Amino acid sequence: MDFGYSAKTREWMKRVGDFIDNRIIPASEKFEEQLVKGPDFRNWVQPEIMEQLKAEAKAEGLWNMFLPDNEYGAGLTNLQYAPLAELMGRERHAPEVFNCNAPDTGNMELLWKYGSEEQKEQWLKPLLAGDIRSVFFMTEPGVASSDATNMAATCIVEGDEVVLNGCKWWSSNVGHPNARIGIFMGVSDPLGEDRHRRHSMVLVPLDTPGVKIERMLPVFNEYHEPEGHGEVTFNNVRLPVSNIIAGPGRGFEIAQGRLGPGRIHHCMRTIGVAEKALELMCRRGLERSAFRDSLARLGGNPDKIANARTDIEMARLLTLKAAWMMDTVGNKAAMSEISQIKVVAPNVALRILDEAIQIHGGMGVSNDTELAYLYGAIRTLRLADGPDEVHRSLIARLELKKYR
Ligand SMILES: Cc1cc2nc3c(=O)[nH]c(=O)nc-3n(C[C@H](O)[C@H](O)[C@H](O)COP(=O)(O)OP(=O)(O)OC[C@H]3O[C@@H](n4cnc5c(N)ncnc54)[C@H](O)[C@@H]3O)c2cc1C
Repeated sequence: MDFGYSAKTREWMKRVGDFIDNRIIPASEKFEEQLVKGPDFRNWVQPEIMEQLKAEAKAEGLWNMFLPDNEYGAGLTNLQYAPLAELMGRERHAPEVFNCNAPDTGNMELLWKYGSEEQKEQWLKPLLAGDIRSVFFMTEPGVASSDATNMAATCIVEGDEVVLNGCKWWSSNVGHPNARIGIFMGVSDPLGEDRHRRHSMVLVPLDTPGVKIERMLPVFNEYHEPEGHGEVTFNNVRLPVSNIIAGPGRGFEIAQGRLGPGRIHHCMRTIGVAEKALELMCRRGLERSAFRDSLARLGGNPDKIANARTDIEMARLLTLKAAWMMDTVGNKAAMSEISQIKVVAPNVALRILDEAIQIHGGMGVSNDTELAYLYGAIRTLRLADGPDEVHRSLIARLELKKYR
């Protein structure tokens, strides 16, 4: 077993790391100044600095590194991409600068794997170019959506059209001024015998009549501008049948294909957040004193630092193992490992963020550091892409299967 990164990976890490340090971090204030905040997403804008940095990253070939395809992406394996995503996770705006941001990466990977040539030409290419952004419409307010078979929204084929009806929410990215396309998952064959063949995925241009953004949902009072998370209604939305991805009845199969890579990308970025929280915890702990000693040395604080380092190492090794399995035996055989890391990474990061907030005292819950924002953002990952409990039940099921 070799625990080191390959020479190729180290070279990419240096290029991505340098770009983040020299271009993205110095521009942090500009991002903040250029954002328009508040619940009214119609006023939201794409910061100019984002487009400027995207153009620079693209020109340097630091682009679409998530896609393991030589023609469409950078041709890196999951294992090679993992430490790059970790670096991006440390800086809030970095993933989009490199066109490696959720939920677009999952949607691009889906179109790359399952899209027709026409669909790739029309939607995958502009997404890969970073010209537009996309949405994934799966979760619904009316049903417990962690069980996707509960889904109530419909996409029924009528002649040469497919008709969409229903309500979705937590649709990330839908407020983005560049969002143009969504992937809608709905019931296409309500009476179908096989409950895993009743659903389909349909490409919905967001300006199609009948698509309406009702409101944006805040996360602990943050709207995550300019992406946002929306509640969206679909009222008799009519589209050509050719907008169904891979044909009717394949929604579940495609969802499995999409969520594997999407989940592991989240985990890699989350480890970057945990590293950042530990760094802030150590720096604050060393620079401030109380009771004639540095905060870092008081009471149980050294233990907290040691536990944080240990947890990060464990989480990273497990993530890298899951990435390696995806590359070598495929996403299906890596299902347990992907679910394990989907539970571990957000929980580890949240514990460390909480301790980092604690050592910052009152400052920790203010906006003077990024900790409070990051805590809110990472807390959502114990729900998004499947709640912890659903992943644990899958891990247990696979484990028990070995002994049946
Ligand atoms: C910030 C954010 C962004 C999101 N982005 C998107 C997006 O872009 N597109 C999209 O479609 N969705 C998105 N989601 C939705 C997310 O995927 C769902 O919230 C999640 O799948 C859970 O579904 P639910 O909210 O209906 O919860 P429910 O299904 O109602 O579950 C509620 C709770 O029940 C418990 N539970 C469920 N199953 C089990 C079980 N088997 N064992 C034990 N307990 C269980 C868990 O505690 C769970 O949290 C996002 C969510 C958030 C918060």
